[in-house]
Amino acid sequence: MRDVTKHYTKDDVTVVWKSGLCQHSCICWKGLNDVFDPKKNPWINMDGADAERIIDQVKKCPSGALSIELKAARD
Ligand code: SF4
Repeated sequence: MRDVTKHYTKDDVTVVWKSGLCQHSCICWKGLNDVFDPKKNPWINMDGADAERIIDQVKKCPSGALSIELKAARD
């Protein structure tokens, strides 16, 4: 599959996912399945948890496939 970069935004928080880096290690969807669910499309649901929990889970991604952009940092 071609590598893609996807953005999922809610309010000031954007989760960035780079498919080419993802090791499908399950950590994100085992840790926070209400947000990260590879069976769903889109597979990241920004309404599944509050921003703090989403950011915490993104930090646990071992490969760097997931990262966070905050709106304040982009302005
Ligand atoms: S935690 Fe990171 S590497 Fe693991 S499945 Fe999720 S996005 Fe991919």
